[in-house]
Amino acid sequence: TQRFVDPLAGIGRIVNSYENARASGERVFGLAHRPVSVAERAAPVALDPVEGHLAFEDVTFGYRPEEPVVRGVSFEATPGETVALVGPTGAGKSTLAKLVLRLYDTDTGAVRVDGVDVRDASLADLRRAVGYVSQDVYLFDGTVRENLVYGAFDVTEDEMLAAARDAEVDSFARDLPDGYDTRIGERGVKLSGGQRQRISIARAMLQDPRILVLDEATSAVDTETERAIQRALARLSEGRTTLVVAHRLSTVRDADTILVLEDGRVTERGSHDDLLAEGGKYAALWAVQADAAVDFDALLADGRGE
Ligand code: ADP
Repeated sequence: TQRFVDPLAGIGRIVNSYENARASGERVFGLAHRPVSVAERAAPVALDPVEGHLAFEDVTFGYRPEEPVVRGVSFEATPGETVALVGPTGAGKSTLAKLVLRLYDTDTGAVRVDGVDVRDASLADLRRAVGYVSQDVYLFDGTVRENLVYGAFDVTEDEMLAAARDAEVDSFARDLPDGYDTRIGERGVKLSGGQRQRISIARAMLQDPRILVLDEATSAVDTETERAIQRALARLSEGRTTLVVAHRLSTVRDADTILVLEDGRVTERGSHDDLLAEGGKYAALWAVQADAAVDFDALLADGRGE
């Protein structure tokens, strides 16, 4: 069955949340230095259907052009593959993820989807093709149901419930005072970070994009919630090209390709086994990491001056 999705489903949400946050004086995406004003060509290239091939070709980008934070990055993901980004805070991982969404244009080099430079692509098609899940999910002042189907339209009750179950929203939504009709947000029930994240996962399931950009949460949630989120993310990324800013060792280990990013550059790349064999920073990280979280910052602090 064909599903029609609002062209604003992907980035529209982000822009909305930015407008919203700006109004309330918060920083959401920290768009301080460049406005979200990427332009569409007069005759954009259609990305429909999308296979989900993703490529970065020698990409350099800085929020201020004279200060690049992503430097000469190249990599490729074939449809269905998962690429994990790891590295210390400030290495440029989230920035790289935002370039897939075309929140910004590269200074040099190109980001391509199915071989098409995203600057040449139809913005509506690109936004349909690329889903985004992060901890900064935008929830508006409406019911759980409205928040779930936001961005997608022509969603049946059954589809909504299936996504809610797969994203493990159902388990908490049923316990809310009015179930799916419970109002959440400013004037309603306040949800936890983990619950918000699962709503964003359900939304992405309903959007059904070929390419997924995941920014894994760093904020602590209890073990049960953590497991629920991991299961939901695994279901969501199944069969989709996934670029994940990884903070969990399990996510990294299972990725087809791992890119270690430091100061905007890829310093190591390969599968988990490749990188262990290489004996570099990734291997050192793995050797010292006792818990489940990736803590590159701690490793670099310990290994300073090496
Ligand atoms: P990571 O995700 O690896 O922690 P980021 O991509 O968030 O790294 O940040 C890379 C660099 O870009 C950092 O120096 C950060 O301070 C800077 N940066 C991130 N967002 C913005 C922004 N909106 N404006 C200016 N600088 C930014």
